[in-house]
Amino acid sequence: MNVLIMTDLEGITNVDSYYAVWPQTEEQKEEAYRARQDLMRDVNAAVAGFIDAGVDHVYVADGHYAGKNFIHEMLDERAEFLSRDVWESYVTERKVDIHAEIGSHSMAGTLNGFLDHSQSSNAWFDFKFNGKSYGEIFHSAAFVGAYDIPIVMVSGDVTACEQARQVLGDIETAVVKRGIGRNKAVSVPSEEARRRIYEAAKRSVKLKDKIKPLKVHLPAVVTVTYMRTDFCDEAILSDKIHRIGPRTVEKYIDKIENFEDMLRMNAPR
Ligand SMILES: [Zn+2]
Repeated sequence: MNVLIMTDLEGITNVDSYYAVWPQTEEQKEEAYRARQDLMRDVNAAVAGFIDAGVDHVYVADGHYAGKNFIHEMLDERAEFLSRDVWESYVTERKVDIHAEIGSHSMAGTLNGFLDHSQSSNAWFDFKFNGKSYGEIFHSAAFVGAYDIPIVMVSGDVTACEQARQVLGDIETAVVKRGIGRNKAVSVPSEEARRRIYEAAKRSVKLKDKIKPLKVHLPAVVTVTYMRTDFCDEAILSDKIHRIGPRTVEKYIDKIENFEDMLRMNAPR
């Protein structure tokens, strides 16, 4: 059995400020470096859990922003790193059996969700699929689910883990912190957080045949409400995208073949 671990940065243990995730100054870059070290420690806890559960191959991918967050010399040697242009093919060619998300955050508009957003903090106010609002855990689940792969484990703040269970059912979750408003968070102690990740990863392997892959209803309508009307002006330059409100567009999709199928909106993200 093989697992793919996808990572994000907002839901990593000890990451507790916006600038750790989006550094601007030199001082903030030092903070961001510490966040990247914490990312590697969370990832390694999950890798250890999956290896101890008997998984054959543990593939890991770097999902936050441009995918340049990993400190490769810190990665557990038993994991195999997949670059940005490669990981999708491991899903579409069904080289993995289960999927895990480390460092997740809740969807845009979640109260006390640390750095809550759906794909874009700057441009997207809301994302709906067939009329219901979802965030990035759903986006991943719909993509891997199209290839019969279930998400069995998620780590992140309280709200990310709650939403994961709302969307995916009784999966394993590892809560590593709680948000205080949007821009602050309090983490559980590092050792405890990594123990939770390790245990959740280890237990989640047993869910392979219990958790069903997410199968979305197709054809589907995808609706995005932007922060500003000009983003919407740009989006509708595509003839497949229709404006249904000053800041809201929608499009129809009849398949999910790649990760971007439901997300591409021809406008800033
Ligand atoms: Zn991110």
